[in-house]
Amino acid sequence: CGIVGVLGDHEAAPLLVEALKRLEYRGYDSAGIATVNDGALDRRRAVGKLVNLSDLLVHEPLAGKAGIGHTRWATHGAATVINAHPHKAGPVAVVHNGIIENFRELRAELAEAGFAAESQTDTETVALLTQLHMSQGLNAVEAASATIARLHGAFALCFLFDGEDDLMIAARKGSPLAIGHGKGEMFVGSDAIALAPMTDEITYLEEGDRAVITRAGAEIFDAEGRRVNRAMTRIQLSA
Ligand code: GLU
Repeated sequence: CGIVGVLGDHEAAPLLVEALKRLEYRGYDSAGIATVNDGALDRRRAVGKLVNLSDLLVHEPLAGKAGIGHTRWATHGAATVINAHPHKAGPVAVVHNGIIENFRELRAELAEAGFAAESQTDTETVALLTQLHMSQGLNAVEAASATIARLHGAFALCFLFDGEDDLMIAARKGSPLAIGHGKGEMFVGSDAIALAPMTDEITYLEEGDRAVITRAGAEIFDAEGRRVNRAMTRIQLSA
């Protein structure tokens, strides 16, 4: 339901929770974040209000300056911790808004290849397929692209990778996604409102776009894989 991402200069967890709070008005049943800390990808998830996630983070903090977060409105699978995002499979974590229509076929194919799902969600297949592609030798960017090309349905996605604290991949098809520009920092949000405390410089992805984001900026590719420029706008929002 809500997506945020941070490649920052400060600890990501508090920024992610703050940004998710700004998306609470959309409704949700669970929430979670993942960060990369000293190269290691880890996550925390909780059912219910964001305060449950904040409480969990007090007892089990998550350090790191790169991270993604999600508030979930379940469409496939009950509102449980195992079904909450981020979904992680080996070296990749994914947050997702929308529905992957062909997840049953993908899940069967993945199980066949030895990558069994542990949740009931459509989203986990995105993480597992990316893991499969990486196990076949593709790098993070190639693996995510190959995965996105296989997905049917409506989605906004943000990927984070083990060993990569300066990389996020974002994709938009049928569900909005905005990229925020900071000074040596970059952000992702399903709604620019989420990013208002961090930046007012926003680039909206267009339908079919995929973005490779580092702290230096975002490279955006259209549905045909062509490198494109998307305008940056300065939005007026109260922080
Ligand atoms: N279809 C996904 C799920 O049920 C994402 C739902 C959402 O947009 O929050 O986990």
